[in-house]
Amino acid sequence: MVTVLDTAQTRAAATELPAKPSLAGLDRVRLGAALGAIGVPDKQLRMRVNQLWSWIYVRGVTSFDDMTDVSKDLRAKLADAYTLDRLEIVSEQVSIDGTRKWLLRLPKRGHEAKAPEIECVYIPEEDRGTLCISSQVGCTLTCTFCHTGTQRLVRNLEAEEIVGQIVLARDRIGDWPGAEPPGDGRLLPTTERKITNVVLMGMGEPLYNFDNVRTAMEVAADGEGLSLSRRRITLSTSGVVPEIARWGEEAGTMLAISLHAVRDELRDVLVPINKRYPIAELLEACRNYPGLSNARRITFEYVMLKGVNDSAEDAKALVRLLKGIPAKINLIPFNPWPGSAYECSDWEAIEAFADVVNRAGYASPVRTPRGRDILAACGQLRSESEKLRAKDRSAVAPSGAGEA
Ligand code: SAH
Ligand code: SF4
Repeated sequence: MVTVLDTAQTRAAATELPAKPSLAGLDRVRLGAALGAIGVPDKQLRMRVNQLWSWIYVRGVTSFDDMTDVSKDLRAKLADAYTLDRLEIVSEQVSIDGTRKWLLRLPKRGHEAKAPEIECVYIPEEDRGTLCISSQVGCTLTCTFCHTGTQRLVRNLEAEEIVGQIVLARDRIGDWPGAEPPGDGRLLPTTERKITNVVLMGMGEPLYNFDNVRTAMEVAADGEGLSLSRRRITLSTSGVVPEIARWGEEAGTMLAISLHAVRDELRDVLVPINKRYPIAELLEACRNYPGLSNARRITFEYVMLKGVNDSAEDAKALVRLLKGIPAKINLIPFNPWPGSAYECSDWEAIEAFADVVNRAGYASPVRTPRGRDILAACGQLRSESEKLRAKDRSAVAPSGAGEA
C-alpha cells in the first residue's frame, strides 16, 4: 500500500465554507444562476452554460483562463467570483491491486463541530473502471454488519459534492482528454484509466438523499458532459421501498438491492429498515422497477456472514425468492471491521452457496475483494480515518482527557 498524498497536518484547520464557490460539480440550473449573478444577460445564458459545461465536464479544466472561447472580460469576472476548485483531498491511497481510495473533506457548515469527511474508491478492472461514491456523511440506518451504520448521519451531500467525487477521481487518474499523469507519476495502464461505471455504494443511503443524488446523476449522465450511460450507473439501496419506483422513473439508472437475508426475522436484524419494508414488499417494488428486463437486471447484494446467512438452505431459498425477477446475484465476502460482531463465511461455505446460485443460472456471483490493504472495501470506509483521528487525539491529549 502506498499513501501518495497526505495532508493530515492541515487536519486541525477545519475547512470553512470557501469565500468563492466552485463551479465544478454544479448542474445546469445552478451554473446558469451563477452566471446570471455576475451579469451574464438572460439571452446569452444557454450558450454560456453550454460553453462552460463542456470545459468543466468534457475537458476537466481547472482554470477559467483555459476557456479559450470565452471572452477575456467574462473570464476575469468568473475568476473574481468563482473557482473551479475540487473537493479537498485529505489523503489518497493506492492499493497493490490498483484500487485507489480518497478521503475527502467537505466544507464545514456553521453548526458543524468539524469539517465532515467522506470516502470515494476507484476500482480498475480489465474491462471497466468503477468509481464507488458516497451520498451521505454517515448513515441514519443501522445495518449491523456495516461500519458506516455505526456512524451517525452528519448530513446529506449536496449534488455538487456527489458530482465532485467523479470530477476529482478523473483528475487523479488522468481521465480527461490529453491529461498528464497524476502528480505521483503512477499512471495506470490506459485500459485501466477510464471511469466507465459509477456505483452509489459508498457511505450513506442514496434514496434518503433523493433529490441531490438525482440531480448529481443527471450531471453524470449528461451526454454533452461526463457522459456516463445510465446503464453504467448503479444505485444501491438497503430497501427504501416507497422511493424505488420514483427513482426508476426519474433517474432510470440500474438498481442494486442490499438483500443479505431471505427471512424477515433475520433481515430485521441485519438490515433494520426491513421492519418497515419487509422482503415481500421490497421484491414487489423490484418486480415493478421501471425498465426492468433481461438486459437490465437488478443486482441483489448478499453479504456472506459465517453461520448467519450462509447455509445451502439459505442459497436455495434465495433462488426461490428471486424467481421471475430479472436478477444478478452478488455475493460479497463480509469485510470485518474493528468491533464488528460477525465473521466472514469460510471459503467452502461461499463456494457451496455460489454453486447453488450458479446451478440456478446466475453467473460468477462472488465479488472479489479489492483494495483490502487500504481498507477500501465495502463497509470499511472511513475506519482508517477514524484510527488516524484517534492517533491525532492521543497526540494532542496524551492523557485522553478533555476529548468529547
Ligand atoms: N446504503 C446503501 C449503499 C451503501 S452500502 C445500501 O445499503 O445498499 C454498499 C453495499 O456494501 C451494501 O450492499 C452493503 O450492505 C454492503 N456492506 C456494508 N458493509 C459491509 C461489510 N462490512 N462487508 C461487506 N459488505 C458490506
Ligand atoms: Fe447505511 Fe447501507 Fe450501511 Fe445499511 S449498509 S448502514 S443502509 S450504508
